[in-house]
Amino acid sequence: MSKIYVVGIGPGAYEQMTVKAAETLGQCEVIVGYTVYVELLRAHFPDKEFLSTPMRREADRCRMAFEEAQKGKVTAMVCSGDAGIYGMAGLMLELSGNYPETEIEVVPGVTAALGGGAVLGAPLGHDCALISLSDLLTPWETIEKRLRLAAEADLVICLYNPSSRKRKDYLKKACQVLLSEKSPDTVCGLVKNIARNGEETRVMTLRELTETPADMFVTVFIGNRETKRVGKWMVTPRGYRISGD
Ligand code: SAH
Repeated sequence: MSKIYVVGIGPGAYEQMTVKAAETLGQCEVIVGYTVYVELLRAHFPDKEFLSTPMRREADRCRMAFEEAQKGKVTAMVCSGDAGIYGMAGLMLELSGNYPETEIEVVPGVTAALGGGAVLGAPLGHDCALISLSDLLTPWETIEKRLRLAAEADLVICLYNPSSRKRKDYLKKACQVLLSEKSPDTVCGLVKNIARNGEETRVMTLRELTETPADMFVTVFIGNRETKRVGKWMVTPRGYRISGD
């Protein structure tokens, strides 16, 4: 039986990788992943064999991992954040039917919503929805419907893949959909390069967010009706009574 670990490595910094993820990578011979993440890991695991493919070659990358495992090497397929959240765990499991002799174990990681949430304070203190604005694999009409219904349900919304070179105006389009249900004064936050060099954060209103540029290294948080600023922080109250309030 050969073995592949599908490992979420967290948002960036080694310290934000779980102990289990670090120990798992320490035990593997081969680490397969998207070029950028492989580079983040190389310094901490210098004796490993690294294999990478560029973005959009996801199925090739999975096959590469299965082939390495079949050679008898303990293999890790790495994803940023958590491997199950807009990551490769699902695809690996779907393809695993073609490789019945390979066992898979999924190792969870700190997803961008949690890493970015901590930078902003506590934006996810109540029910929330994660929505990706990437329409590579999901039709825009579906994304728009989910945005509208999440806004109507007053969920805190965390947007992944808010923009890219080809989808420059998607964050703006999403904000316009949200504005049909939400106040323009809704508290929002944005974190760029979570736990990586160049980490930046901003708290603003939904009106301001509409005019704010973003790229694929940004995660966006849109508050619910109760979300507020507390000093520099973005806080969605759980609802506890605070004496003196
Ligand atoms: N599996 C990943 C998500 C992959 S989708 C996870 O669980 O975090 C890629 C999107 O995730 C990016 O466009 C961005 O919105 C978000 N993201 C991932 N890592 C990030 C980081 N370090 N800083 C900011 N956003 C990040």
